[in-house]
Amino acid sequence: MPWPSETQRDTEVFGLIDKERERQNTGLQLIASENFTSPDVMEATGSVLTNKYAEGYPGKRYYGGNAVVDDIEALAIERVKKLFGAEHANVQPHSGASANMAVYLGLIKPGDTVLGLSLDHGGHLTHGSPVNASGILYNFQSFRVGATDERLDFDQIRDLAIKHKPKMIVAGTTSYPRRLEPQPFRAIADEVGALMMFDIAHIAGLVAGGAHPNPVPYADVVTFTTHKTLRGPRGGCILTTAAHAAAIDKAVFPGSQGGPLEHAVAAKAVAFHEAMQPSFKDYAQQIVKNASALAEALSKQGFRLVSGGTDTHMMVVDLQPFDAELTGKESQLVLDEAGITLNKNNIPNDPRSPFVTSGVRIGTPAVTTQGMKEPEMALIAEYIATTLRNRNNPAAVAEVRAKVAALCAKFPVYPKRA
Ligand SMILES: *Cc1c(COP(=O)(O)O)cnc(C)c1O
Repeated sequence: MPWPSETQRDTEVFGLIDKERERQNTGLQLIASENFTSPDVMEATGSVLTNKYAEGYPGKRYYGGNAVVDDIEALAIERVKKLFGAEHANVQPHSGASANMAVYLGLIKPGDTVLGLSLDHGGHLTHGSPVNASGILYNFQSFRVGATDERLDFDQIRDLAIKHKPKMIVAGTTSYPRRLEPQPFRAIADEVGALMMFDIAHIAGLVAGGAHPNPVPYADVVTFTTHKTLRGPRGGCILTTAAHAAAIDKAVFPGSQGGPLEHAVAAKAVAFHEAMQPSFKDYAQQIVKNASALAEALSKQGFRLVSGGTDTHMMVVDLQPFDAELTGKESQLVLDEAGITLNKNNIPNDPRSPFVTSGVRIGTPAVTTQGMKEPEMALIAEYIATTLRNRNNPAAVAEVRAKVAALCAKFPVYPKRA
């Protein structure tokens, strides 16, 4: 059977992909959980591996024809274990959420108590949101950041751990700009006899590149996404000690997934290879330097940084001191008009709802991949402030849009068709 000919090609979808490529190439991508993957990662993602069924694990598959796939998955496992110094790895989770659900399924029982960071203080949906399976199936209790310093308060976490006696403590965040030291979590987990899970979805690339402490030596289980700072394909991964290896593997397959996405597993292997190169250390350091530079430039423009700044790839910006009327929702919309893409975000103890918010979250992984450095961060802060100050002046916003496009043209991500 021939493939559909050129004349029958789905020009609708490919036309839209071209439009999206254009959007990514001509605007500033400041969503803290996004990045640009390498052409090699994309090539693996779009490879013939998408055709293969491989339920099971290397050497133990339910289907034939998996000799090559076994080699690919084994390579991904070997590389990620080396990259993070882990005893065991499962590279099959389809996403970060799937990885987290598999950990809960494998290591605790429905109804068990778990302690995690409150969502509106920087925790993730899968850390016990009432609308997420984690919050529906397990009894999540939350800790919050300190009222004055907006940082994790280990005295509070310890008190809650003693009070609630959780089976598991979940460390890890989705919008918290500071370093997360693993040792205090380990000490509290040991004191109350809890397992310790560390979700490094956002910071996996910083950990791999040596720009953030590695929790693997301290945690029972570490989960992450491969598509954020780690700069791989969309997907998840679980690292564990040998003691929990069998339970985790069983919880991923057959516990919560069917056939693995081996094209994504191959692309993860490519990303792990890239993250092992010396240049990735430079990349991780530059992400953090850029975030610091951007945070400083934004505070000079009159914004307040939650917790006073950042040690990572991201910052949460409190808009209230800049303009008490301005919401995160409106900022996100008008900045999009100016070609600056970021997301609204609650600040700790936000008076506004999660759909409106008083803050925005900004991250530097993608612009750092493009090659931007500190001087460009100062420009970005200026463009953000100018757009927000002139949010009711379309001509001024269009002027920023042109400047943003000119800046991005100097840092092409995918010069040719990717
Ligand atoms: C992004 C994120 C996840 C979920 O990842 P998905 O791939 O979107 O399911 C889980 N935990 C944390 C902390 C995250 O930031």
